[in-house]
Amino acid sequence: MITINGSHGEGGGQILRSSLALSLITGKPFCIEGIRGKRKKPGLLRQHLTAVKAAVEIGKAIVSGNAIGSSRLEFTPSGIIPGKYHFAVGTAGSATLVLQTILPALLSAEGESELIMEGGTHNPWAPPFDFLARVFLPIINSMGPTVSATLLKYGFYPAGGGKFSVTIIPSPELQPIDLLERGEVESYKAEAIVSKIPVSIGDRELRVVADKLPVGYGSLVAREVSSPGPGNILQIEVASANVTELFIGFGEKGVKAERVASSTVRLAREYITANVPVGRYLADQLLLPLAIAGGGSFRTLSPSNHTLTNIEVLKHFLDVEVTVSELEKNIYEINITS
Ligand code: ATP
Repeated sequence: MITINGSHGEGGGQILRSSLALSLITGKPFCIEGIRGKRKKPGLLRQHLTAVKAAVEIGKAIVSGNAIGSSRLEFTPSGIIPGKYHFAVGTAGSATLVLQTILPALLSAEGESELIMEGGTHNPWAPPFDFLARVFLPIINSMGPTVSATLLKYGFYPAGGGKFSVTIIPSPELQPIDLLERGEVESYKAEAIVSKIPVSIGDRELRVVADKLPVGYGSLVAREVSSPGPGNILQIEVASANVTELFIGFGEKGVKAERVASSTVRLAREYITANVPVGRYLADQLLLPLAIAGGGSFRTLSPSNHTLTNIEVLKHFLDVEVTVSELEKNIYEINITS
C-alpha cells in the first residue's frame, strides 16, 4: 500500500485530495498519516470528510479513519462508478474542493455523471466557482471530456449554503496539452459581487480597478446576489488568445474595499507582466490532469508550495517525470513526461 505523509511540504488538505483523486484513477490503495499536519487545526474537517465520502461513493471504496479530527486514513477503491450524485459539505467548507477530489476520476469513467454540490462556492483558499467554470473547465474540455458547471446559489464564507451542478461527459482518455504561450491579452472584465452588504462596496472596488487596469466601462459590473450569508468578492478576468485567467479578492470585515481591490489588481498585474499563460493557482490544479494524460507542459509564475507538494504526491501514484525549470525571473516551465 502507498504511504503518504500528510504533513509533507504544504502539509494541508491538498495532499489528501490529490491522493484520493489519484487512488481512484489508478485503483491503487493508500494510507495517509499526519493529515493536514501543518494546519492550525490538523486532521480531517467537515470539508475533507465530505471529499472522502464522495471518493468512497464514486470508487466503491473501503475506508477507515474517516472521522472528524482523524489524522490517519486508509483508502482502497474498487472501481469508478459514474452517475448521479449529491454531495453537501454542510458547512461553508468549499464544495469546489470536494469536486476537485472526484472530477479527475469521472473524466474518463464509463458513463456520464451529474453532480449536485452544496457548500461554499466562493471561499478564500479554494477555487471559487467562477474560476472552476471559466478557467479550469475550459482547459479540461480542451483535453477531451465535456464538463459544464452551473451556479445555482452563491455560498460565501462563513455562512456557506451555496449550490452548483456539474455534468460530465467523459472521454476515454485525456489528451496531453502544452500551454506555453499566453498570446495577446484580448479583454479585461471586472465583477464585484455582494450579498447582504451595500452594493456601493462593489462600486468602490471597481473604481480602483478602473484606475489601474484598462478595463472598458461596459466590462465593470457591480451586482447584488442572493446568498444565505453576507459576502463580497471582486473578480478580475484576463482573457488572452490562448487562455483565460481569473483573479479573485475576498472582502473582509475591517478591510477597506480599496485595499481588497488593490491586492486583487496586484495579482492580475503580476500575471500580465510575467507574460505566462498559467497563474499560480491554475498551476497546482493542472498537474493532476496533465499527469493523468501522461504528459504536457505549461509556463507559469514561481511555483507555490502547493504546486511543489502536488508534484511529490502524484509521483507516488503515477510513473511520471516532472521537471520545474526557471526560464527567467518569475517565469517557470513545468514539464510532465511518462
Ligand atoms: P486546509 O484545509 O488544509 O487548510 P485546504 O483543504 O483548504 O487546506 P489547500 O491545501 O489550501 O486546501 O488547497 C487549496 C486549493 O484551492 C488549491 O488547489 C489552490 O489552487 C486553490 N485555490 C486557492 N485560492 C484560489 C484562488 N483564489 N483561485 C483559484 N484557486 C484557488
